[in-house]
Amino acid sequence: MAEKSEKQPMQRKNKILIAVIALLVVAGVVLGVVFGLKSKNATNDQDKKSDSVKEDSKPTDNSGNNTVTPPPPKVNGTMINGVLFPYYVLDGPTPAPVTTVGTVYSNCKVPNTFSISFDDGPSQYTTALLDLLDKEGIKVTFFVNGNNDGCIYEKQEIVKRAYKSGHQIASHTWSHPSLLTLTPEKITEEMTKLETALKDILGVVPRYMRPPFGDGGLGTNPAGDKKVQDTLRGLNYVITTWDIASGDANIDSHAPPYKLSDAALLAAQQKEYNVGISGSPKGAPHMALQHDTYERTVSLITPWAIKMVKELGYKIVPVGECLGDDPRNWYKSIEAPAATAPTKCVP
Ligand SMILES: [Zn+2]
Repeated sequence: MAEKSEKQPMQRKNKILIAVIALLVVAGVVLGVVFGLKSKNATNDQDKKSDSVKEDSKPTDNSGNNTVTPPPPKVNGTMINGVLFPYYVLDGPTPAPVTTVGTVYSNCKVPNTFSISFDDGPSQYTTALLDLLDKEGIKVTFFVNGNNDGCIYEKQEIVKRAYKSGHQIASHTWSHPSLLTLTPEKITEEMTKLETALKDILGVVPRYMRPPFGDGGLGTNPAGDKKVQDTLRGLNYVITTWDIASGDANIDSHAPPYKLSDAALLAAQQKEYNVGISGSPKGAPHMALQHDTYERTVSLITPWAIKMVKELGYKIVPVGECLGDDPRNWYKSIEAPAATAPTKCVP
């Protein structure tokens, strides 16, 4: 009996103990759920904040480890007329241009700037050039044609890439004629036909142009120059030539077989650049002309020129920047491109 009487209180004690443990477990589960939810909400709040405050946001994954979340992409450009003007983040209203239409600029104006510009493309070599410029972090000016080295509509992705990368797109006429040989009406046609193409492809109309061969801007034909410049003034174009011609178009062939060895070509380039640079004070700006329609201009001359110009302490910039114009003034108009651009050139 004694045994039985002792056993019964023990059973009661055990039952009480089990009940207490069960209660503690239930309470623990309830508390765990409540705090778990709270902590999840806190994480969500943090996530919401991280949308607007990008720095120091290190959300954790389910395992509790820190994960690195890439920051949201920065707005790279400026909204103008409801479209993104790429690359340049520009505040406030557009300032008045510092350049004058109808005037010929044969050199840059901003000290310590050096513009390297490329004429006659886009070409089959332009993509490799854009890769190089991206790698070097350099912006340049492309004086493009509509139908010179092939049809611009068929190479529109190259032009779009150049524009979106922050390079200046300027006009080199539709078909690359000497403007001295044309009537004002034909000059106008050469300019407006390319305007239509660039409006279709990019949505912008350049304000900067370079006459093919420099004809009309070199001061060699007073009557012809006046005709060209008056016509271009009427079309609101800034006329730019160069003070350093690398001579790539005169001394090289577009592709193999080459007329010169690599070493001879670079020596000739060095000579042309030296003539331009050594004749002016240190830090004096320069406007160099090259052509992206030559394979070795892209593969050999430009890498060499970039290195040489950088070593001289210059900042390499587009022509519009080395003349001091706000990027918005590199263009006569900035709008949305056509929903569908043509894919072929009409003769
Ligand atoms: Zn040209």
